[in-house]
Amino acid sequence: MTTRHLSEEDLQQVALEPAASAPILVDHLQVCSHCRVRLRNYQLLFTQLKAIPQPTLDVDLASLVLAKIDPPKAARLESDWFDYRFGLGLAAGLGSVLYCIGKTLWLTLMAGSPMVVGLMLTTVVIVFGFLLLDQRRSHQRRMKTLSLY
Ligand SMILES: [Zn+2]
Repeated sequence: MTTRHLSEEDLQQVALEPAASAPILVDHLQVCSHCRVRLRNYQLLFTQLKAIPQPTLDVDLASLVLAKIDPPKAARLESDWFDYRFGLGLAAGLGSVLYCIGKTLWLTLMAGSPMVVGLMLTTVVIVFGFLLLDQRRSHQRRMKTLSLY
């Protein structure tokens, strides 16, 4: 048995769940009238709190909230529009580069042997293709990350 009075938390625990209370608390309550009075006050308080009816709203709050929320939009898995725009931008960029250095490039290509020109063009096409594939994969990864639906 404890000689100190029970704490507020102990009294609330005993008032709410008497069967689950520690025996040392129950023993103290059997000999201490001060703590029994405090326990009775908590029991009355909890009884009164349980007797209060649950507040209800006169309106259907769920339907009001749902009416304010926009329905989710279907996510596009593949973006054909992006591919179209990306291809146009790429063609414009490549065209601009060729327009700026086209004459010099043409003279350089004509001055070299056909084998060197073929190797250069093959290298440029392969590197350009890998860059395009990498950009596309990177873009798709980012779009999947941003997809919330
Ligand atoms: Zn006590």
